[in-house]
Amino acid sequence: MEQLEIKPMAQLTAKQLIKAAQDYGTPLYVYDAEKISEQYEKLTSAFSQSNVVFFYACKALTNISVLKHIHSLGANVDCSSINEAKLALHAGFLPQQVLYTSNGIGFDEIEEAVSLKVNINIDSLSNLEKFGKKYGHTYPVGIRLRPNILAGGNLKISTGHDKSKFGIPADQLDQILAIVKENHMQITDLHIHTGSDIKDADVFVKGIEVLFDIIPHFKELKSVDLGGGFKVPYKPGDEQLDIELLAQKVKEAFDNHPQAKNLQIWFEPGKFLVSESGYFVTQVNVIKETAATTFVSVNSGFNHLIRPMFYDSYHRIENISNPEGKEKNYSVVGNICETDTFAWDRRLNEVREGDFLVFHNAGAYGFEMSSNFNSRLKPAEVMFKENKFHLVRRRDNWDDLLRNQVMIP
Ligand SMILES: *Cc1c(COP(=O)(O)O)cnc(C)c1O
Repeated sequence: MEQLEIKPMAQLTAKQLIKAAQDYGTPLYVYDAEKISEQYEKLTSAFSQSNVVFFYACKALTNISVLKHIHSLGANVDCSSINEAKLALHAGFLPQQVLYTSNGIGFDEIEEAVSLKVNINIDSLSNLEKFGKKYGHTYPVGIRLRPNILAGGNLKISTGHDKSKFGIPADQLDQILAIVKENHMQITDLHIHTGSDIKDADVFVKGIEVLFDIIPHFKELKSVDLGGGFKVPYKPGDEQLDIELLAQKVKEAFDNHPQAKNLQIWFEPGKFLVSESGYFVTQVNVIKETAATTFVSVNSGFNHLIRPMFYDSYHRIENISNPEGKEKNYSVVGNICETDTFAWDRRLNEVREGDFLVFHNAGAYGFEMSSNFNSRLKPAEVMFKENKFHLVRRRDNWDDLLRNQVMIP
């Protein structure tokens, strides 16, 4: 596995991030468009020898300017809700570039997706049957299968194992085939997504093997969708998925399979495209010395970046205001009235009240999972593009907190 050396300084420099913090205030999400382009380029160049299409799994980050940027690169988009599909269309994707991989949704949402003319993957026998009854052969559709493979960084982000809610279990193939046959359905795609933070290319190969047994049952297939979950590095020395090796293994597998070699291969990377493009800039409110540790409280919390508390994820933290300061250990915490720890025992350049601390890998599942918990306002988002910062979402204000509340007369 490739060891990646992370540069001590971000791609955006400390100076640039401080400027953004001063101009737009903190807490602040900052996205570097160039980094997203670079990641997309890595994918397309690695897979240049195969017939591959990438669908950006936009639940990682749906800011319209990010969607527009990714659209401009030539990628397609994968959506997890009907509103994401609508956002993608709003951002300029064509219906045929939009894929709605549904899970556990009501059939009315699937009908709406049909009216939008987007690609759909269905993930239950129940919805498959309703779809077949209503549309028969008239609307091509994909099936989300559960391959019964355990993979992914941890159980909360593993989706392909035999206790996962996602997809129709591959062992229910007979029932799938009966529904498809009875309703003369046009099945054009088979989909699997085994989880997030996958660092081993062989997980995808295992998924392909499961699919290969199933492919011959579907005569109208045009694509197989291998999902997303490519692991990116979060800290120095972190393993990541070797994209070149994955491309090579996928190509070999497909080339050697008579019924698969003419199919288009789809992937749905979310984190891979946007994680490292994002920086979350906070400011230090309070330093509290205690016998056990020194707390650094920043002007944010898990209401803005939930991943450390939710997934025990590691985000590299950098004191961009004092890069030469003497290193010490700190506990970096938020200002939320709940245990709200970003990092225990973290070595940082000496932290002073008022310093800007930046959290790395904040592009994926950062702003997107933020909330107004504690009646705090959601941060602003800015994008660095063509050498300039652009505000792409204004900070919440007081009116936003009251907006949907209805007073009893
Ligand atoms: C979340 C998700 C992805 C993307 O996962 P990443 O870990 O962000 O790459 C892809 N496909 C589906 C169906 C998903 O639900």
